[in-house]
Amino acid sequence: MGYIDNIISIIEKKDAGQVEFLQAAKEVLDSLRIIVDQDSTYEKAGLLERLIEPERAVVFRVPWVDDSGKTQVNRGFRVQFNSAIGPYKGGLRFHPSVNLSIIKFLGFEQIFKNSLTGMPIGGGKGGSDFDPKGKSDNEVMHFCQSFITELYRHIGPDTDVPAGDIGVGGREIGFMYGQYKRLVNKFEGVLTGKGIGWGGSLARTEATGYGLVYIIDEYLKSKKDGFKGKKVAISGSGNVAIFAAEKASSLGAVIISMTDSNGFIYDKDGINLDTIKEIKLIKRERLSKYAEVHKSSVYTDAEKGRVWDIPCDIALPCATQNELLLDDAKKLAANGCRVVGEGANMPTSLDATEYLIGNSVAFFPGKAANAGGVATSALEMCQNSARLSWSFEEVDQKLKNIMTGIFNNIDNAAKEYGKPGNFVLGANIAGFKKVAKAMLDQGVI
Ligand code: NDP
Repeated sequence: MGYIDNIISIIEKKDAGQVEFLQAAKEVLDSLRIIVDQDSTYEKAGLLERLIEPERAVVFRVPWVDDSGKTQVNRGFRVQFNSAIGPYKGGLRFHPSVNLSIIKFLGFEQIFKNSLTGMPIGGGKGGSDFDPKGKSDNEVMHFCQSFITELYRHIGPDTDVPAGDIGVGGREIGFMYGQYKRLVNKFEGVLTGKGIGWGGSLARTEATGYGLVYIIDEYLKSKKDGFKGKKVAISGSGNVAIFAAEKASSLGAVIISMTDSNGFIYDKDGINLDTIKEIKLIKRERLSKYAEVHKSSVYTDAEKGRVWDIPCDIALPCATQNELLLDDAKKLAANGCRVVGEGANMPTSLDATEYLIGNSVAFFPGKAANAGGVATSALEMCQNSARLSWSFEEVDQKLKNIMTGIFNNIDNAAKEYGKPGNFVLGANIAGFKKVAKAMLDQGVI
């Protein structure tokens, strides 16, 4: 049995049942055969055995009192996966589906994503099975305060700097930062995604969605093409989806669909983003409301149809993991879709990814395509350390440069290893090489 197969069998045994983690780890490991098989240094140093094991994983109780006076208990997680190239960095997810497997898959992906940004940040991820949906601001605050009352001892500006993710936006970061500050009595850059005016960076909110569009634009430019006139189908209607839609439409694309967990809207003339922002970011309502306001659009319940059945030129899955499956990939390719860019983390199943790549659809994996968010979080850390605030344009320009750099990096790696246009392979190899070198340089740790 070769080195990679041996590692896969180790995780299948040790982490049996951690479906999402196994999926993410196998995808990366499979891409690395080409590099690890040529060089026995990795095996001798037990590098992959170390890479697949988090440096630390903390699981904790989060008790809080709801508005009716009843005590509730949730489970909190922080997986500090790899600090070879910098302090752990990665978001916190609050969603009822959160478990150790999901946090480990996200933390593992984060190692390579953070490496690709070119910034000195390691990989980590955390969260809770708490569901902010339907909770009052007061309940969300009590939960966040309790969550950080345990987590604060494990994080710090030079140790681990969490950010937002699904269910964690500006409101939640604010409540957690306030409590952290009380506990340590220091105003320091321990969380990113903070409010403008108390340490946050301009353009952080927009960064993941904008970055996704920048990397695809760079690819399109390399084909002498652009977003102008392209029909773009997007899933999700949260942070990533909204700002990907905003940037793509500013470049001339027509956004024809968006989703939430209940269903999707289709508007052939282009979705009105002001209405979406009002419904999802301000009123925190369901997407079905959109069709009540815009009669030209059609709302379809999630159980009655798939957003990926709508013909489009570019598809941007920006909601959650495993939301674009093999049948969806077949439908997209058959309908003429030429580019799929993952705004979410692992939204495409392994077989769907292989199908898209095998059928000449340019496929941009999340670890490259959505890296703009964490890259801008790292820019927020720089501003906090220097006690400076950069302008929106300055941060946006740096983000654009970073996304261009990532495109060139993964494009070149794919070419160097004999698979031009395979950006999954390119991203995994380019991300891995930097982390592996740092781990080898630092000895057996
Ligand atoms: P938000 O919470 O802002 O939005 C999530 C969106 O996805 C909502 O529209 C939500 O619908 C939908 N959604 C969530 N879970 C499901 C589900 N199980 N099935 C169907 N739809 C679902 O999150 P973000 O936009 O921040 O994150 C979206 C994705 O992007 C995640 O995979 C995240 O890890 C990834 N990402 C985010 C970054 C960031 O900077 N925010 C950075 C890099 C990656 P509803 O409104 O019904 O809940």
